[in-house]
Amino acid sequence: MFFFPSKIIFKASQQDLRSFEESHENLSELTKTLLRTYQGIFDDHVNISERFLAKTLRLHDDQVIDQLKQIASFGILEYWPQKETPQVHFLYNRASARYLNIDHEVYLERKNIYKKRVEAMLSYLITTKCRMDFLIRYFGEDTGTSCGKCDNCFAKKREEMGSEEFDVLSQNIIRIAKSGISIADLQAQLPAFKRDRLMEVINYLTREKLISVGAAGMIFSQQKSL
Ligand SMILES: [Zn+2]
Repeated sequence: MFFFPSKIIFKASQQDLRSFEESHENLSELTKTLLRTYQGIFDDHVNISERFLAKTLRLHDDQVIDQLKQIASFGILEYWPQKETPQVHFLYNRASARYLNIDHEVYLERKNIYKKRVEAMLSYLITTKCRMDFLIRYFGEDTGTSCGKCDNCFAKKREEMGSEEFDVLSQNIIRIAKSGISIADLQAQLPAFKRDRLMEVINYLTREKLISVGAAGMIFSQQKSL
């Protein structure tokens, strides 16, 4: 994609141009500059730069454009200003629609594949099953296991544990870990809860960024209170 530059071609003979310059002195600087700057301007369309001309003549771009239009209106030259929108340039001749042959079956097959992909994406969003397992199955394998780490796995664990126990444990961990605590000390402070339950909730809270586990296995709450 690019912008076509402005083009001009002189239409008047050298002699007509000279008499034009005599009668339109205000425009003659521009015609002279054009002749000095661009070769072959009488024979063929030439790309010009209004910006360059404006700089040479110490004018504004708009003034140059305006003068070019004036000179064109006298039939001295033809002027095609730059197109303001980007142009697409086809490197090859565009085939006529008559010769375009779209294989309908291939088209339908591609459409179908695309449709399936979108459907799979939507199912991934709304599934309540393990998301990792969902992805693995999408790629043709069947593990039949759950990752235990995705949001759905956590939701399931929370349900199994009973949301009340889960929430009580979460709140306790966050409260106790305010100034940092090791897992062993945490467990000692919460003897009513089994270790695997405790670990599940710790994993959940870590994933939700409510706590962080430091290098020495120390747990820190990320919030002042829940
Ligand atoms: Zn999972």
